[in-house]
Amino acid sequence: MLYVDKSKADVPSYVIVNAKRELKDTPGTTVCYDSLLGDTPSTIREHLCADQGWLCVYCMRRISLKPEPGVSRMAHTEHYIPRHQHGDTGKALPYPEYSQADLDEFSLDYNNLFATCDGKYIEDEQSEEEPEEEYTHAGRTEKAQETCDKPRGNQRLTVDPRNPVHIASIRYGKTNALIDSSDSAIASDLTKKLNLNYHWLVAERASTLSELYEWFSVHAKDNNFRKECEERLQTLKNGDSSGKRQPFAQMLIWALEKRMRRMN
Ligand SMILES: [Zn+2]
Repeated sequence: MLYVDKSKADVPSYVIVNAKRELKDTPGTTVCYDSLLGDTPSTIREHLCADQGWLCVYCMRRISLKPEPGVSRMAHTEHYIPRHQHGDTGKALPYPEYSQADLDEFSLDYNNLFATCDGKYIEDEQSEEEPEEEYTHAGRTEKAQETCDKPRGNQRLTVDPRNPVHIASIRYGKTNALIDSSDSAIASDLTKKLNLNYHWLVAERASTLSELYEWFSVHAKDNNFRKECEERLQTLKNGDSSGKRQPFAQMLIWALEKRMRRMN
C-alpha cells in the first residue's frame, strides 16, 4: 500500500467548488459524486493519479487514464469512506456513524478520494487460462483473482493510506514479498479485504524486490553507495521527470531504508 500525503496534494479545488455550486443550483439534484457531470470526474481522477505517481493506492501497480495491456491498468476513483452504505440486510453497516448526507459530503472531499486500479489481475483475454477461484466473505462470493477495491467493496478498512504509522507497520517477505503488518487488523485488511497476497501480484512484487537486491549487490562496494541509495530513495518517493513513480514504490522504499539503516 502506498503512503499518500494529502497535504501535498494538487487539489482541483476550482473544479470541485464549481461542480458543487452547479449541483446546488439544480433542483432535485443531490450534491454528491454520483451527480457529477461532464469532465469533472475524469479531472478529479487525473489529479489523484498524478498525486500518487500514477500508482494504485492499494496494489501499487501502474495505472493510467488510457491503459496499455501489460503496462498499466485503467485508473478508477476510490472513495475511502464509501459513497453508499450497502450493508447486507440485518447486518451492521460498515460505517454506522455516518448518515447518507455525511457520505454525500465525503464523496466530494478530495481527502477521501484515491486512485486505484481496475481490481482485475488477469487480462480479459487470458481469463480462460486462470480458473476463477471463489471465496466468501461478508456473506458475498468474490473472485479471488480480483484485488484492491473490487474485493473490498464498501467494507470498513482499518488501514489508512494517509496514516504514516499504518504504512510503517507494513512489511514484506524478504524473498517471497508477501505483504504483512505488525498490526493484525491492518494485516487482515491487506490480505483479506484487499487480497494483496493474490499469487500473481505477489510474484510481481517478488521480482521487483529481487531486482533491488541485485542492484544492492552490484553497487554495495561503490564509494558513493550511500549517495546512490539516497538518490534512488528520492526518485522512489517523488517519481521521474514526468512524475511517475516505480510500481511497488512503497515496498522498495521499505527495503531501501532497511538496507540504509544497516550502513550506519
Ligand atoms: Zn490496485
